Amino acid sequence: MRRLLCQVCAGPADHNDHGTLWLIQDQRGLWPGWPERAQNTHPPLCLRCARIAVKSCPWLKHGFVAVRAQSFVSGAWGGVYRTGWPDLRPLLADTITVQFGDARLRWLQADQLTRELVGCAFVELDRLAGDT
Ligand SMILES: [Zn+2]
Repeated sequence: MRRLLCQVCAGPADHNDHGTLWLIQDQRGLWPGWPERAQNTHPPLCLRCARIAVKSCPWLKHGFVAVRAQSFVSGAWGGVYRTGWPDLRPLLADTITVQFGDARLRWLQADQLTRELVGCAFVELDRLAGDT
């Protein structure tokens, strides 16, 4: 995620002047202008792996969109814990995204880096030039 490598083959993700290629859960309507400023925990993909993933990844069967976007590492995703040794229970039942600068970050047991997507544009994988 930090180096924008493909989440499948670990090669360079597909990137051009319009941004890096991402496949993200389709949440259109979540807010006006979505996915602009979305916090994304899944690394980008190269075009070859993106085309394979849309056919075979069970997670993508629930609906996805292909997006080109610029991005920056914005925080981390995981469980937030509280003080109170020896009672170290999670503060929240669910895992959350905590952005850099948030005071809760020091209590986060981070699982994944997050990147904020900016300058987003929907793309159709079939229309992208590539090697497959
Ligand atoms: Zn790949």
